[in-house]
Amino acid sequence: MDNVIEFNDFAVSSNNMNGETACWLCQKSTLLRALFCQHCGTIQPARPMDHFARLGLESRIDIDSDQLERQYAVLKRTLDPMRFAIRGMGERNHAAKQMEALEVAYRTLRDPLRRGRYWLVLHEKEIKETKADNPMIADLQGELEKATLAAQCDKIAQKAGNALEQGVMGLMQSLRTQNWQLANAILAEVEGLEAVLSDARARRATIAPHMGLSDDELTSVK
Ligand SMILES: [Zn+2]
Repeated sequence: MDNVIEFNDFAVSSNNMNGETACWLCQKSTLLRALFCQHCGTIQPARPMDHFARLGLESRIDIDSDQLERQYAVLKRTLDPMRFAIRGMGERNHAAKQMEALEVAYRTLRDPLRRGRYWLVLHEKEIKETKADNPMIADLQGELEKATLAAQCDKIAQKAGNALEQGVMGLMQSLRTQNWQLANAILAEVEGLEAVLSDARARRATIAPHMGLSDDELTSVK
């Protein structure tokens, strides 16, 4: 297997993944973070590791998204089921589990909001019962309940969307400065805004199913 060396060097060593374990097939000692056994070249089980390590990224709240895309593409190619098609059931299963874990890691890290939430969990700083206390959320929900036009829903969705964007930036900043309490508060707020956004879309769909935004609707709420 010509990938063995390359991919065993792939993951960074920031996550306690330098330990060793026995290869499930040849039983020789192999690195915990290795995708392939360095002795027999066999794909290894998807072992528990954090999403950053899984993608061979440094564990940082700000990630280089180009690097993320590159690592993901390479790993995805390496784990392509086609490559394991003629292998035994064990190898095919391990490759599939590795791919699953890779997808979860990628989807989590790619999205700043999910990454932020994950960062709190990873650092055991998540406070589950945090309530959003931004009055804007309640105001928007109230407006939404009274909305009778698609354009009103769109306006509310737009406001929520803008606030959401600001929220994500605030979340990143609070995580960078390790202001965990603020980060939890912003996260609760952002979740409230996400709820407004999806409610606004749902309401719009019931008011104007299959309809685009017309000029009449836009002007009528001004
Ligand atoms: Zn082996």
